[in-house]
Amino acid sequence: MSIKKKLPLIFTILVFLILLMNNSLHFFRSKQQLLDYNESQINMITQEVAFQVENAKKGSLYVEDLIGRELRTASIAIQKSLPAKHEDVTNEQLIHLANELMLSHITLLVKTEDDIVGVKSTDPHEINMGTKGWGYWYDAFEQLLALTPVNVEKGLTLPHYWSGPIEVASSNPDHVDKWGYYYDGSTNYIIDPYYRDNAVLEYEQNFGPGKIMTRFTEELEGILELTVFNPERFGDEKEVVHLNGNSYTRLSAEPIWYGSYNYHNEQIDVGLIKTAAKSGETQSYRTTLDGKDIQKTFVPIQGNHEPFVIGLVYDYGLIQTQLNEELKEHILLSFIFMIFVLIISFIFSRSITKPVEYVVERVNEIAKGDFGKTLKADRKDELGILAKNVNALSISLKTYVENLKKSNEVIEFQALHDPLTNLPNRRYFQEELTKRIEHSKRTGENVTILFIDLDRFKHLNDSLGHTKGDELLKLTANRLKEALVTTKHFITRQGGDEFIILIEKVNKVESKLLAEKIILELNKPFYLNEKKIYLNASCGISIYPEHHTEIENLIASSDMAMYSAKKDGGNKVVMFNDQISTQGKQRPLIETKLRRALEENKISVYYQPKFDTNSGKITGMEALCRWKDDELGWVSPDLFIPIAEETGLIQPLWEQIMVAACSQLSQWNKGRNSPLTLAINFSARQFQEPEQLVRQIRRYLTKYQIAPELFEIEITESTLLNHTHRTISTLHSLKEIGIHISIDDFGTGFSSLSYLKKLPIDCLKIDKSFIQDINPDFSNSEIAETIINLARSLRLHVIAEGVELEHQRDFLQSKNCTLMQGYFFSKPLSAEEFYELIQK
Ligand code: C2E
Ligand code: MG
Ligand code: MG
Repeated sequence: MSIKKKLPLIFTILVFLILLMNNSLHFFRSKQQLLDYNESQINMITQEVAFQVENAKKGSLYVEDLIGRELRTASIAIQKSLPAKHEDVTNEQLIHLANELMLSHITLLVKTEDDIVGVKSTDPHEINMGTKGWGYWYDAFEQLLALTPVNVEKGLTLPHYWSGPIEVASSNPDHVDKWGYYYDGSTNYIIDPYYRDNAVLEYEQNFGPGKIMTRFTEELEGILELTVFNPERFGDEKEVVHLNGNSYTRLSAEPIWYGSYNYHNEQIDVGLIKTAAKSGETQSYRTTLDGKDIQKTFVPIQGNHEPFVIGLVYDYGLIQTQLNEELKEHILLSFIFMIFVLIISFIFSRSITKPVEYVVERVNEIAKGDFGKTLKADRKDELGILAKNVNALSISLKTYVENLKKSNEVIEFQALHDPLTNLPNRRYFQEELTKRIEHSKRTGENVTILFIDLDRFKHLNDSLGHTKGDELLKLTANRLKEALVTTKHFITRQGGDEFIILIEKVNKVESKLLAEKIILELNKPFYLNEKKIYLNASCGISIYPEHHTEIENLIASSDMAMYSAKKDGGNKVVMFNDQISTQGKQRPLIETKLRRALEENKISVYYQPKFDTNSGKITGMEALCRWKDDELGWVSPDLFIPIAEETGLIQPLWEQIMVAACSQLSQWNKGRNSPLTLAINFSARQFQEPEQLVRQIRRYLTKYQIAPELFEIEITESTLLNHTHRTISTLHSLKEIGIHISIDDFGTGFSSLSYLKKLPIDCLKIDKSFIQDINPDFSNSEIAETIINLARSLRLHVIAEGVELEHQRDFLQSKNCTLMQGYFFSKPLSAEEFYELIQK
């Protein structure tokens, strides 16, 4: 959820909780207040009612007393008017008196033997009416008759007079009856006048609590009913007094004094009213009556005359309604307030989130790569600081990314280019070749690979120093570019002195011509610090799709062709062909077989005699290794020697040859007057560890007792040129021992005269190609002759190899080169054959 929505929500929830708490508190407080108010109202009402009740009681008693006194006055008037003996009183007299005195009735009571009986009366019911069963009334009559003051608590006692308490006739509750009793001993009867009157009732109606109670129930909301209970009587059976055929209830014995009792619930109310009166404590309970939720409260009042209980029925639903209304009001207010808070907090949160949204939007754009983009940062608050920081970040990201891009470009360039010449490198070449071949697959055009390797570059590098060597490579790269200005090309440096050039849309002949042109260009002198330097290079060509369709094989083919050019003396161009292919393919097979042949000692040694045509004698022999494989047949040394050199097998091969040849020589030389010499061919590889080589040769010579002068080392001119420094010092060591050193295949390399002079050599061996060039008329013999002259001027021996024909021998002899070797004299022979030959 976004902050924009979250903030108002939080505020609203918070406010809601506060309001909820406040409303609940308010509700309970209001309820308590209402209850308190209700209680105080009840107090007030009950006090008022109690006061009124007390007043009414007092007032009505006063009225009652007045009536009582009036009755005494009437009694005295009757006593004065009537004869002393009741027997003399007539009924008419009584009626007349009653009318005159405004009495309801007059009755005369007389003491009989065991009763006090009505004898004369205006009320026929009272004649012959006994009073024996009248309780304290009877006691009061007796006390009157005894002329003692009446001590009955109830009623009113005056001299010779007692007035009983007011009674309500059950038959006619609308009026009350009040009796007076007078006896002063002057008569033989008690005078009993009485009023049937409602004055007291009227008084109570006019001045009693009834009115105020009605007013309370009518005017005060919630007061349903007010009742003044007589706790003595409420719930009990009605006390009824039977007087002269009438039944009466005393006013004071009424169960309910004032008010109504419409909310009937006697079962509970009786108990509570009695408890309230007994304990003096207010009793209260809640219930539902007539479908109304009401509260009944009973307040006990310890009256001056008699105790009473005020009952109050309160409409409890009113409190509930009031509370509900208040709650409704509050909820409505809360709701309005919450909406207000929601709106305000929404506005507030928007004022916060709007700038945040702005920052987020811009940061998103920056994150998507729009580096360098900046934000408005004119605020002074945290957001302003944030914006400034984002700006700084964005700008530094921009610079960082730009730098990264630049360095990526550099890295990419470096990854695909050779740092020295800036030409595309091997990786770039592979990619390019793949691309061009894919293209060629669609168009059917040729892709030509020219594999160029500089000849003797290692030698140059060693002698000039690596810095110059690097310089030379740069010049070579430029020369290659110059040579190809007119051709569409892709020149690459593969490492070292190897360059590969890709050319498209040229045929076999054209590519050969182009390669030859490049070689010729490279042959032109280079200037390094004004020093002239000459370079040779060998080039192999392979063409897609003619020679191979697979990239790896295509490159390997050009490499093999280049190798073949090198083997052929270098500074040449060789087009890949089947023969090279077979040779190339045979290499791994030959390597395995040669390894096994060496392990199984299957390499034999043949010997080719060296003749001195002057003496006509064999002076010595050259040991040539021979290997006949069960499967491949005779394998030429020209094929397996380079493999042995590359794989390191040349060392064990050489050791086997040394053992065979040296033991053979010492055998053959035994008892010979002129001992034979032994020439062994050495490979360049063997000069890599000079000390060890010298030590080994010495050990063999000692072992087979061969004089060092009889031992000869044949080393090709190219070997010498490739491994100058170390090779020369090794040769010096061997020379010191007395061993002879010959340069084999002389004339195929490019040794200079000054170079040759530095070498500790004894003999030049003219390469057989120059001998075979000699024509029968001795023409084309210049090179052979030059070499003979060169040897002579350097005071070296000279020997010709590959002499096959007579005229060759004759020419050599005519030039005083008498040491010769070749088929004309003898092919290389097995040890047995050679032994036979020397025996002859
Ligand atoms: P190389 O040292 O120049 O040996 C002379 C090669 O010319 C031999 O070839 C030999 O058989 C051959 N040959 C001799 N007379 C004639 C001739 O009249 N006409 C022709 N066409 N060839 C003649 P091979 O034995 O095939 O040896 C080839 C090369 O292999 C040798 O050339 C030498 O460089 C190398 N090689 C042979 N044996 C050994 C060896 O034991 N150790 C080393 N390191 N190289 C050896
Ligand atoms: Mg040789
Ligand atoms: Mg040779």
